[in-house]
Amino acid sequence: MARVFNWQLGREMSYPYEEKHPQWQFAFVFNINRCIGCQTCTMACKSTWTFSKGQEYMWWNNVESKPFGGYPQNWDAKLLAMLEAENPGGQVWDVGTKESSKQPYGVFKGKTIFEAAEKRVGPEPQNVLGYLPSDAEWRHPNIHEDTAAGGQWRFGQYNGSAQLPEHRVWFFHLARICNHCTYPGCLGACPRQAIYKRPEDGIVLIDQERCRGYRKCVEGCPYKKAYYRPNTQTSEKCVGCYPRIEGKDPEISPDGAPAETRCMSACVGKIRLQGLVEVGDDGAWKHDPGNPMYFLIRERQVALPLYPQFGTEPNGFYIPPRWVPRPYLVQMFGPGVEHAIEQYSCPDRELLAVLQLFRAQRQVLFRFEIQQGPKVAEIPVRMPSGQMKVQEIFNDTVLGYNKRGEEVVRLTIEEPTFERPREQHVNSI
Ligand code: SF4
Ligand code: SF4
Repeated sequence: MARVFNWQLGREMSYPYEEKHPQWQFAFVFNINRCIGCQTCTMACKSTWTFSKGQEYMWWNNVESKPFGGYPQNWDAKLLAMLEAENPGGQVWDVGTKESSKQPYGVFKGKTIFEAAEKRVGPEPQNVLGYLPSDAEWRHPNIHEDTAAGGQWRFGQYNGSAQLPEHRVWFFHLARICNHCTYPGCLGACPRQAIYKRPEDGIVLIDQERCRGYRKCVEGCPYKKAYYRPNTQTSEKCVGCYPRIEGKDPEISPDGAPAETRCMSACVGKIRLQGLVEVGDDGAWKHDPGNPMYFLIRERQVALPLYPQFGTEPNGFYIPPRWVPRPYLVQMFGPGVEHAIEQYSCPDRELLAVLQLFRAQRQVLFRFEIQQGPKVAEIPVRMPSGQMKVQEIFNDTVLGYNKRGEEVVRLTIEEPTFERPREQHVNSI
C-alpha cells in the first residue's frame, strides 16, 4: 500500500493508491443541534435519484436516531467492534500533539480500516476492513426512530427516565449522505477500478459501464453509503447532485454558478451548508478563512468529521449536539468535541453571522463578508462547564457570494419583522 497524509488523523497512513487530489473538494457542514428529523432531505433525494425499480432499499440520504438507530442497522457499532478486535485497546488519540493545519485534533494512534486490513492474507486479500450487511440489516431505514437512551449509554440498553422534573434521556438525529471522502473506502476496495474521484470537485462516482456488481464497495465503505442494485447488477451511490454543482440547473443557475444539492436545498431545519474548498497538490486545503466551509471546519473547528478514525478523511462535517454525553460524541467525532461545543454554546459575532448562512439560498457560497452593526443584546449563557458567560449580540449584516463573485444573500442577525396593515388583512391584530 502507498503512504498518504490524512490531516484528520494528524499523520500518514496506508492507502491502496498514491495521493492524487482534486482541485476543489465538495464538502458540507450539518448542524445536528438543529435537525428535527423531518426526513425532507431524504425524500428530496429519493424523489430525484432513487425512485426506480431495484432502488427500493437505497437511501443515499438518510436520517437516523442515535444512539440506537442506523441504516443499515448497527453499521457503525459493527465496524467499530471489528476495528477493536483487530487492535484491542489501541484505538486511541494522542491529543498532546496538536497543530492547527496538519494535526488539528491531535494524532490518531490506532488502526484505520486500511491498516487493519493489511494483516489479512488468503485467496482474496482485502484492501479495506469491512463487511457486507445482511438483507435484514437493510430492511428498516429508520429503525429505533426517536428512541432515547439514558445518561450512562451502553449498547442495547434502553435505560434512563423520562419522568419530570428532569428528563434524564437523550437522542439526536444524524443526517447522512456519502462523504465524498478524500481516501474513499469504496474506491480502495473496488477490484475493477470502477470508482473514481472527479478532479474538478472531488465527487466520488461509480462508472456504471465498468461496475460488475462485486459489492466490494458496499463492503469497503465504512459509512455504508454504496448500495447494490439487483436488477442492473451494479452498485450505485450518491452522485453529489453533480449537474447542480456544475451549474447546469437552468432555473437556479441561469448563469452557470454552482448550486447546492437537492438534500441541502430542501432542509427544513436549516441545518445544512454545502460548499467547495480549494485543495493543493499535497491535499492541504488552501488557507481561505473567507470561505464559509474553511471558516467553520478549519479556522474555528466548530464542525467535525464523522468517525475520522476510519481513515477515509470524510468531507462531511458535523456541529455536535450540546445535550449528548461527551464520551459518546468523542467516539463519534474525535477529540475536537469539547472545543466545538464550547464555541457553539456562546458564538462570537463572526461565528454567529456565518451560522446565519445555513439554508439562506440555493447557490454554493464561496465567500462571506460581515458588515458590523450596533450591539442589540446581552444574554447570559450557561457554558458546558457550568460557568456563566455573557453573550453580546450585534446586529451585523452577513453577505454571501457565489463562484462568480456575485452577492447572492444578505442577512441581518436580527430578523426583520413586518406589520401587515389592518385595513388590507382582516386577520391582522
Ligand atoms: S462515504 Fe463511502 S461511498 Fe462515499 S466516498 Fe466515502 S467510502 Fe465511498
Ligand atoms: S431536512 Fe434538515 S431538519 Fe429535516 S431531517 Fe433532513 S437534515 Fe434534518
